[in-house]
Amino acid sequence: MRQPWRVAVVGGGIAGLAAAVRLRDSAPAGTEITVYEQSGVLGGKLRTGELAGQPVEFGAESFLMRDPTGAESAAVALACRLGLAEKIVHPTVGQAALVIDGGLRPIPGGTLVGVPGDLDRVAAVARPAADADTDGGRPLVGPDADVSVGALVRSRFGNEVVERLVDPMLGGVYAGRADDLSLVTTMPALARTARVEHTLVGAVRAAQAAAPRAPGAPVFGTLAGGLGTLIEAAVTASGATVRRDAAVRELTPTGTGWRLTVGPTRDPQLVDVDAVVLAVPARPAARLLAGPAPAVAAGVGALDYASVALVTMALPQPRLPELSGFLVPSTEGLLIKAATFFTTKWGHLRRPDGLALVRASVGRYGEEAHLQRPDADLAATVHRELSAVLGTPLPAPVDGHVQRWGGALPQYAPGHADRLAAARTALRAAHPTLVLAGAGYDGVGIPVCVRSGETAAEEIITALGGSAR
Ligand SMILES: Cc1cc2nc3c(=O)[nH]c(=O)nc-3n(C[C@H](O)[C@H](O)[C@H](O)COP(=O)(O)OP(=O)(O)OC[C@H]3O[C@@H](n4cnc5c(N)ncnc54)[C@H](O)[C@@H]3O)c2cc1C
Repeated sequence: MRQPWRVAVVGGGIAGLAAAVRLRDSAPAGTEITVYEQSGVLGGKLRTGELAGQPVEFGAESFLMRDPTGAESAAVALACRLGLAEKIVHPTVGQAALVIDGGLRPIPGGTLVGVPGDLDRVAAVARPAADADTDGGRPLVGPDADVSVGALVRSRFGNEVVERLVDPMLGGVYAGRADDLSLVTTMPALARTARVEHTLVGAVRAAQAAAPRAPGAPVFGTLAGGLGTLIEAAVTASGATVRRDAAVRELTPTGTGWRLTVGPTRDPQLVDVDAVVLAVPARPAARLLAGPAPAVAAGVGALDYASVALVTMALPQPRLPELSGFLVPSTEGLLIKAATFFTTKWGHLRRPDGLALVRASVGRYGEEAHLQRPDADLAATVHRELSAVLGTPLPAPVDGHVQRWGGALPQYAPGHADRLAAARTALRAAHPTLVLAGAGYDGVGIPVCVRSGETAAEEIITALGGSAR
């Protein structure tokens, strides 16, 4: 293999940048790393903006502190690696609410993304079906099977638990419906225990016991100063050359590596590299794979995505409850899917002048038509619905921002993990120096994407014949 190695990272989101940092840490010294990002900004779904003179997240807001096994999450480990450990802050108000029959009720504790391990604790919000969760003498899910979260929970706890608890909580992450989403990919810890336990209550409790949380330990964290600082620090630590406004349009195998076609079609640039981390969503990945690996492209490109919009408002001294925010079941008939009271939830964002930053998320999978309205219209509807849910007319905003995320959240159907494993095996066999990373494959969320990027970097190092330093 020629030295130094030249590795292209296609996609400047968190997965691509985590891959770049891991390459710098573990590939031979002198490895040339170039990050190609089609837009003018790095970070992908992480985007720290500014509203009313304050940094505020227009995309992802926080990260899980622990992974499903209970160990420190990859996002925390990356922040520590980048010297940002002291910038990690936690919500000062963790309690959120559900909108039920137009009013707010606290989200019951002790659930796993809304799936209860103790039915009595959720009774104020949803009535579980009586006696459906019986021991049938065998595990809930077969050893290699996958089901939708909704199908499993409906069969054991009935419709109300799905509609009032699981749908809004899972929908808060995926903007999709529990009935469409894979248990194995969206709730891996529960999938593992459901292959052993005979009741759903038993499976939830076993999953919770497998990842015990120290009492009072924070679940979420973010970075004071914004998640944009993670992106900047990752770029610096990676020592990568960054090419913004540089869409990669084609990947061609050269026999010894890859030729990238970069930039506008009328004036493309051709770049030769030894290996590629492809850290872009599944749709653009499928377009790039269509030439070198058409069967893999078909498998990867089958993934569907939901679109959402985030409406953030700066409100002068509104009367807000002491909650981090609320989630809205789709049965409530509101456009708002979730709301976050930033300045209540995060102590570091509180302002002496009482100005509140409130963000609402709009858009569910299959309901993209609701997003086809002008920003001002969307913001006015959100303002009206927030006032209705809170039972008090909110003041007019002094500043606002609408961020649209088209085709942003993967909808992993049952069987996704197997389809992806098959696609990856085929890609590895045909092209070991081209590796997929990011939310299109391994699951959404900053920790999962960081881990995915790091794993891709390690695979590249192995494929190029090096060993991790
Ligand atoms: C609105 C929203 C809120 C979220 N909130 C949270 C949260 O609070 N906590 C959490 O953990 N997760 C959250 N997530 C999920 C999380 O942000 C994502 O799963 C994660 O950031 C995805 O990272 P990625 O690097 O895989 O992809 P992306 O962030 O999508 O990055 C991919 C990059 O590739 C670029 N690209 C695409 N095609 C090409 C090409 N041909 N050439 C070059 N570049 C290309 C894109 O422009 C993009 O910058 C949220 C997601 C959304 C949409």
